[in-house]
Amino acid sequence: MKSKLCSSLLAGLVLLLIASVVGCGECYTQEDLDVAYERGQAEGYDDGYEAGDLEGYKVGYAKGKDAGLAELEAAKQEASKVSYDKGYEDGHKDGLTQAQLTEGELSVHFIDVGQGDSILVDLGETEILIDGGDKSSGIVEYLKDFVDEPLEVMVATHPHADHIGGLIGVLDAFEVDEIWLNGDTNTSQTYTQFRSAVNSEGAQVYEARRGDTIIVGELTFNVLHPVKLSGTTNNNSIVLSLSYGEIDFLFTGDAEQEAEASMLMEGIVPDVEILKVGHHGSRSSSSTQFLDVVKPEVAIYMAGEGNSYGHPHQETITALAEVGAEIYGTDIHGTIIITTKGYSVQCEIPCPPSPVITNLSISPDNVEPGETVTISATVTNSGGSQRTHTVTLKINGSEVETKSVVLNVGEGQVVSFTVARESAGTYAVEVNGSQGTFTVDGKNDLPLYVGSINSNVYHYPSCRYAQRIYSENEIWFSSVEDAKAHGYRPCKVCKPPG
Ligand SMILES: [Zn+2]
Ligand SMILES: [Zn+2]
Repeated sequence: MKSKLCSSLLAGLVLLLIASVVGCGECYTQEDLDVAYERGQAEGYDDGYEAGDLEGYKVGYAKGKDAGLAELEAAKQEASKVSYDKGYEDGHKDGLTQAQLTEGELSVHFIDVGQGDSILVDLGETEILIDGGDKSSGIVEYLKDFVDEPLEVMVATHPHADHIGGLIGVLDAFEVDEIWLNGDTNTSQTYTQFRSAVNSEGAQVYEARRGDTIIVGELTFNVLHPVKLSGTTNNNSIVLSLSYGEIDFLFTGDAEQEAEASMLMEGIVPDVEILKVGHHGSRSSSSTQFLDVVKPEVAIYMAGEGNSYGHPHQETITALAEVGAEIYGTDIHGTIIITTKGYSVQCEIPCPPSPVITNLSISPDNVEPGETVTISATVTNSGGSQRTHTVTLKINGSEVETKSVVLNVGEGQVVSFTVARESAGTYAVEVNGSQGTFTVDGKNDLPLYVGSINSNVYHYPSCRYAQRIYSENEIWFSSVEDAKAHGYRPCKVCKPPG
């Protein structure tokens, strides 16, 4: 439908008008105008978009940069704080180390006296004895190696024979400066003897009550219990806390849950690293409320092996394990000595305790070369908490295989290995120290090496040179030694040993 406008007169006039405005004599179609309009519109949009785009970018960039700088500053401050804390901690530890090194190493001996308590605290020339086991504890002999007289302090936690019996001998054998009692009495002959030994010692005698302190050399013991005598003999036990540097101890005697509740009520139960578990690990002590506050890292109960009370009770062991304590007992580990310079603890017993290996069986114990031998043993967890034990099989002293077993308290499990050996001989078997042997028979007297009577070389029978030897010239040897004794040397091709 489009036609040239200049073909009509009217259009010619219009064009003339436009031509005079743009200053050119050319003709533009409507289409040209539309395209120009559209292009102008598009370019305008593009320019606007670009300008807006750049503006947005600039604003975003600026905000991002600010945030980055702020974060950098925060990171700097955070890192500085972490380093500060670490530096402070290290410095604190080093300072403490130095301070404690000059003061020396504290040893606390949880002495194996069978069913009973006896604890020696030893710092240089200062010694404190808490209880002495019963009369047959043998404590005097033990103490002779550690106590340089006088024994500064003796504490009798309560007048039961398994705590004071051994103290009678100690009073006879050593000069004692100070004796702390709880003031309770007992009708036993042991108590009567103990009292008369105390009376004739000439020592300072004190009755311990909550709030008292026993200061001896560099050490200060706080008396946490009893407030006054009441209830049962065990619940009147003297309970002591001791801090050495950053390491805290709690000695509970035979204090039971009633005594624990009294200390909890008063809010004086400390969080400690080392706990002497109350009353030989009996369930009558160590309430969960008490253990939740004490939170020991190491818990030591003192009980006689196979004692008639069933100490320690499983409930106590479980409760201690549940608060994360490493558990040791004199019934299993014997005397346990904890040493510390005030910031870390060493434990002079196998840590963790090694498993008990019983019923080592080697079957069959006499085999043909290459035949399988089964070696098995029962592995029992003797530690006071669930442990992973490593069981190692050694043959002739070298490690052959290891296996890991996870065992609960007191749990046993059979662990088996299978081995086979080609060479004849007797083999020494060892599973974590438990020993036995098995024997591999010779190869039915089949000689192993062959040579020619016309040479001085011995071969494996499979060697190509061995196969060229005429059978009437063969000479067989049952071992390298045998071959050498006949003046033969090993073949350089098949390379038998020798
Ligand atoms: Zn006791
Ligand atoms: Zn008792």
